[in-house]
Amino acid sequence: MTNTEQDRWSRVKGRLRSSVGEDVYSSWFARMDLESLQQESVHLSVPTRFLKSWIQTHYADRVLSCWQAEMPEVHRIDLTVRSAARCAAPVRDAQAAPTEPRRDDHHHPRPAAQEVRSSAATPVSTSHDALGGSPLDPRLTFASFVIGRSNTLAHAAAKQVAEGRHGDPVMFNPLYIHSGVGLGKTHLLQAVTWAGNSNPDRKVLYLTAEKFMYGFVAALKSQTSLAFKEALRGIDVLVIDDLQFLQGKTTQAEFCHTLNALIDAGRQVVIAADRPPSDLESLDERVRSRLAGGLVVEMGQLSEDLRLGILKSRVTAARAHHASFDVPQPVLEYLARSITHNGRDLEGAINRLLAHSKLNSQPVTLEMAEREVRDLIRPQEPKRIKIEDIQRVVARQYNVSRADLLSSRRTANVVRPRQVAMYLAKTLTLRSLPEIGRRFGGRDHTTVLHAVRKIEGLVSKDTTLSDEVELLKRQLQE
Ligand code: ADP
Ligand code: MG
Repeated sequence: MTNTEQDRWSRVKGRLRSSVGEDVYSSWFARMDLESLQQESVHLSVPTRFLKSWIQTHYADRVLSCWQAEMPEVHRIDLTVRSAARCAAPVRDAQAAPTEPRRDDHHHPRPAAQEVRSSAATPVSTSHDALGGSPLDPRLTFASFVIGRSNTLAHAAAKQVAEGRHGDPVMFNPLYIHSGVGLGKTHLLQAVTWAGNSNPDRKVLYLTAEKFMYGFVAALKSQTSLAFKEALRGIDVLVIDDLQFLQGKTTQAEFCHTLNALIDAGRQVVIAADRPPSDLESLDERVRSRLAGGLVVEMGQLSEDLRLGILKSRVTAARAHHASFDVPQPVLEYLARSITHNGRDLEGAINRLLAHSKLNSQPVTLEMAEREVRDLIRPQEPKRIKIEDIQRVVARQYNVSRADLLSSRRTANVVRPRQVAMYLAKTLTLRSLPEIGRRFGGRDHTTVLHAVRKIEGLVSKDTTLSDEVELLKRQLQE
């Protein structure tokens, strides 16, 4: 590849990025490579079939037009999947050979009559419960799952799995989702299960690793191996949560067997764990590489926006049963800003507010929220910042006095620092605009609003100012 070609590719990527936005870009295009560039056609590659099909269905035109903006003669984009090093050959189950045709229990030749009879003891048309699935929480559905930067890809992949139909070819296998605790893995896995099982000819089985160890494996062991395979044939999607808890040599061997049999038979496997496959130290190397051979997606920390979305989704859910329950926007914003650690604490916070407002028949207020969730706010959370502190730090930075900031003087050397201080007061504290106005020498709330907007506008353009503001924030948060 020549330098010119690489440069062009970089510029096309730049166009793409600004056309779809940073989030979409990093989810879908970050791993797209330029393979070759001919007169009229461009050959691009991505690492998985899933990405390929997603880009083709959603962004084909966009990619083409970004190229054409750079090179008008381009008329075609070829997108292929880069070949990845295949994982070690699986321990194969001879019966569930990979060449098995599209499975459809009703129309495909059944196993020999004798086999059918011997497996009659195990219900093949197993429901989630009958196969010993783990309990599902009815609230954990796609409808209540909030999408943000950290989980776009995981969500899209899960959705794709959930929408697959019985007999559809599998796009990536397994789908492996990992993240720290409380960031939505279980929610997403259960959403896949609910959605999949709402389709009557599809069987999705959700198991925690624990359940897999103590229930499923035991049940399978007590059956003949044929019955085992029959049972597996009944499942279209096997979902295993918290794989890091899978322990014990026998269990792992069973797991490995199940995984290989399912994948080779074209069934979808979805897995969640708190770490990437390579870090599952207790698992056999072969299993790890098999796990890494599908689509591995990490979900990152919940951003403040996402936390706000989750809180709102929780309030909406609670209101279905408690119509009078309401959490004012400033309280939601306060919670989203201060409970940063994980989704469980967000859920806990809403539950407490609900309990409290029910017990006391009182509306939710900021004071009440601060009191009720105090212990959910971790010590490393940003400390409460006072307006006086802001005024002091800003005054020092710009070499004016605090009295100047509060005065009515309108000279440039005071006006800008004052605006910065008001902006910081609005963004770093929970005080309202009128309150901030009062604390700045009795100004009107519209003056504060004007200052906030002014600085917001400037920091997006003026790097010196935005650095100064960042520095001030850091000083205040230390
Ligand atoms: P994990 O399994 O990763 O430890 P969970 O799926 O149990 O995390 O999530 C913890 C809590 O946070 C649950 O109440 C879940 O509903 C909520 N949660 C996490 N992420 C999201 C999200 N993106 N949208 C809605 N709720 C979420
Ligand atoms: Mg979980």
